[in-house]
Amino acid sequence: MSEKLSINSRIAGDEVYVDLIGVIDEDSIFDKIKNLNMSKFVFDFNQVSMINSCGIREWIKYLQELDGVEIKYINCPQIIIEQVNMVHGFIRKGIIVESFFAPYFCPNCDTEKKIILKNTEVANSKAPVKQCNTCKSDLEFDAIEKQYFSFLSQGK
Ligand SMILES: [Zn+2]
Repeated sequence: MSEKLSINSRIAGDEVYVDLIGVIDEDSIFDKIKNLNMSKFVFDFNQVSMINSCGIREWIKYLQELDGVEIKYINCPQIIIEQVNMVHGFIRKGIIVESFFAPYFCPNCDTEKKIILKNTEVANSKAPVKQCNTCKSDLEFDAIEKQYFSFLSQGK
């Protein structure tokens, strides 16, 4: 019942935007985004529902095809960040994780919130202060900061 990965790509200027949709695992095939002969890639992980360690291995193999290419990751969901923090290689030297989701909690609403952060908002593994979109009170960061943000120092 595994949901296959689908990949959409579009070229804008000198960049190729790649949407990854579904599950990244040992069956994921990245042929569609090989040999594109572009120098800048933006990978949008927003719609990735699952990634496992085999999927990360496949991804790392795919990255080897993109030698010397400028790479950005955007909209990385929490499930990706958690895997990336455990399995190294997903972020290699020169890859920028431009935006990603982080877990917050509103004590007032008693609700978990996934907030999108930019890499530039996080300094020294400190979660930026964010407000609840419902009640406007300050949210609490809902993970161990040092651990959750450790991927930001990978690839450096
Ligand atoms: Zn609230």
